[in-house]
Amino acid sequence: MGTKLLKIISLSFLGISIFLLQPFPVLAATITDVRLWSAPDHTRIVLDLTEPIQYESSSQESPPQFHLELKGVSLQTPKREMEVKDPFLTKISLTELGKDKVKLILHQKKPLNATVFTLKPYQDKPNRLVIDLVDVVQEKKEQEERQKQKEIKPKGTKIVVIDPGHGGEDPGAIGPKKTMEKDIVLKVGEKVVHLLNQNKEIQAFLTRKGDYFIPLEERIKIAREYGTNLFISLHTDGSFNPQARGSSVYCLSLSGATDEAAKILADKENTSNILGGAFLRPAAFAKDPNLNQILLDLMQNNSMKESFRFAETLLEDIKAVNPLKYPSYRQANFIVLKAPDIPSVLVEMAFITNREDERLLNRDDFQEKIAKTLTTSIKKYFRP
Ligand SMILES: [Zn+2]
Repeated sequence: MGTKLLKIISLSFLGISIFLLQPFPVLAATITDVRLWSAPDHTRIVLDLTEPIQYESSSQESPPQFHLELKGVSLQTPKREMEVKDPFLTKISLTELGKDKVKLILHQKKPLNATVFTLKPYQDKPNRLVIDLVDVVQEKKEQEERQKQKEIKPKGTKIVVIDPGHGGEDPGAIGPKKTMEKDIVLKVGEKVVHLLNQNKEIQAFLTRKGDYFIPLEERIKIAREYGTNLFISLHTDGSFNPQARGSSVYCLSLSGATDEAAKILADKENTSNILGGAFLRPAAFAKDPNLNQILLDLMQNNSMKESFRFAETLLEDIKAVNPLKYPSYRQANFIVLKAPDIPSVLVEMAFITNREDERLLNRDDFQEKIAKTLTTSIKKYFRP
């Protein structure tokens, strides 16, 4: 008893002495990593920080540069410069300005619109500072190109949008050999789009074409711009149980999940926005006042019925390629499936956290098999 008390006293004494020796603020933040993600219309720069910081930003027209003064930050070396391979940037430089002040300069190839925001620590991610540099001309051009598809498509053509989940800052589930969900789903997504586009009556597109993050709501927006007839979000499952295996298919539920496991999965997939760093430009997601709620509910009901029909077809086909986790589709509140006017399903192809499934998911022939199955089911769905 006596020794235990002594231990507590000495520990608290130690605690107090540490506290007294370090006046507030305790330490300047250090930058532990700088990452860059290139998308067709923007580039995202992410700084990992040991502490939250304050910053001030400014832009310069010629030469085009973005400046960020970071306060409460120290660098290990007085200057750091990184040449980068990116459509919009040539170089990133960090220079110490004095005590606990660092200047970040992004050297641009052309003028860009900048948005800066911070993200609090979440799961294994530390404090992050995110800078999005957007080429607004390219952004508009891409949007117009998507909107043009529904006008120029031949009569009777169906549009399918394949959504490779996660991307950029959000790796998704990670396998025992460090295979990342975001990479596998992109590879399978590309294969599905390629196979679908060999059919005259189908036109297929991807929501993301590389390793960058798109907020969940923006994926829906992209699908709606295309005038999509069917939306499929591709994922690989993850579990703490390394034995867990099997494919599963999910639809939206507006009234609570069909079971606890589906709810947990939807919660996990929905955290993509926090991990990936969603900055939603408010104007793009404002509710359309012209949309009638009753009409919207009718559309949603119809889309959900169609989603169930596709999910049933897919489950029937996919079990020939991979064992099913459940014999029927499950429902939960997945943000990415919420387009009221588009039948939408989410597919967990296999468990990346299972050694054997991870090995299969990495194999080109298995990816091809899954892609072919999806293509077959999509074709059946459009020609029942
Ligand atoms: Zn996922």
